[in-house]
Amino acid sequence: MLLVGEAEAIVLNLVQPLGERDVEILDLLAAAGRILASPVAGKLDVPHWDNSAMDGYAVKYEDVKNASDSNPAVLEIKEEIPAGKQPQMTVQPGQAARIFTGSMMPLGADTVIMQEQTRRRDNLVEILVAPPAPGDFVRHRGEFYQAMTPLLQPGVRLAAADIAVLASAQATEVPVFRRPRVAIFSTGDELVGAGEPIGPGQLVDSNQYALAIAATAAGCEAVRLGIVKDDKRVLQEAMDRALKAADVVISTGGVSVGEYDYVEEIILNLGGTIHITSVAIKPGKPLTVATFPQKELPKAPPKLYFGLPGNPVSTLVTFWRFVAPALKKLSGLTSGWGPLFVPARTRQDLRTGGQRETYLWGKIHPSDTGWEFELAAGSHSSGNLINLAQTTGLAVVPVGQKAIAAGETVRVLLV
Ligand code: AMP
Ligand code: MG
Repeated sequence: MLLVGEAEAIVLNLVQPLGERDVEILDLLAAAGRILASPVAGKLDVPHWDNSAMDGYAVKYEDVKNASDSNPAVLEIKEEIPAGKQPQMTVQPGQAARIFTGSMMPLGADTVIMQEQTRRRDNLVEILVAPPAPGDFVRHRGEFYQAMTPLLQPGVRLAAADIAVLASAQATEVPVFRRPRVAIFSTGDELVGAGEPIGPGQLVDSNQYALAIAATAAGCEAVRLGIVKDDKRVLQEAMDRALKAADVVISTGGVSVGEYDYVEEIILNLGGTIHITSVAIKPGKPLTVATFPQKELPKAPPKLYFGLPGNPVSTLVTFWRFVAPALKKLSGLTSGWGPLFVPARTRQDLRTGGQRETYLWGKIHPSDTGWEFELAAGSHSSGNLINLAQTTGLAVVPVGQKAIAAGETVRVLLV
């Protein structure tokens, strides 16, 4: 049985991120949430014109460098330049142009005086404060960005600010990685789909939903293949189909030591290599990780297979701990795919058996002194899905430790 850290290292090592052949060009809105695949260069300097950073007056520094409240520089206003208009005149000595934030600077002017430091008399303006240097409150062309230099580095997820940056630089065709495809199926003779009538001994396949949504949240396209019976032939067909349909396959159930747990046997039948069979984690001990070479495409990276335990809590905990980082790494993110832990003060006593690294679910709350962890009330059995609702953090009790007292600090995995 592997330690959690060992299993994590093996999983992440098996992941070969998407590459050149997985790039598609999308327009700006469609690219949101995707991972940038190559550097993008903008077509425009930013700002694209010298412009004013203030509402005020565009002046020659020479005219105003000695101005003060008792001895104002008096300038004649020759033009008003609203945002979006091209100035028509050149500012001469003794002259100023009325200007607004974002308006283009007129020729002849090198400095902007903010409105609050002036007094207006008809078409004259009195400058009451000398600017510290020429260029004050002028945003110069190319000051923030020069056209055709790299704007964003590859491997980052494109969020609102990134898309805005690309838009402002007229970089409207964005090379991004396609979303990894993740095929999901549930094994178990006892399972019925949500909304279907439930017979004696049956239960609803909730894992299908949990995984489809969690995989989508990790940036993937989920392909749901439904419920598969505990029958070797049926299972083998389903696994084969799943491997053909996706980059990664996630199944649940059938990985324990019971009579009907066939997943590992079928993996080997289909030519897969098993790298992990169990991990010292609670919940989630029976975790199977395998790879399948792509026979038709020998240079292509092998497909990844995760056989997660069937208990609904074990399914999600092992997904959050091992699968989500792997999917994010696969998607082309160059950083930030690792699981995110924060130290938090636990509000309740945390108790475990001490044999395996234990994940207790609950909520994480901000407080003036840092994060606090609130343990979910009720049973922390891996079969109890119900109190997993609204989970935002998993408190981690290390191997060998049996309790963490209320008020002490615990490491919490954010989910
Ligand atoms: P297994 O790992 O197949 O032995 O299943 C362990 C437990 O999880 C059993 O009680 C199953 O009924 C339950 N279970 C298995 N698969 C699912 C599923 N897809 N949705 C909800 N519960 C499941
Ligand atoms: Mg089963």
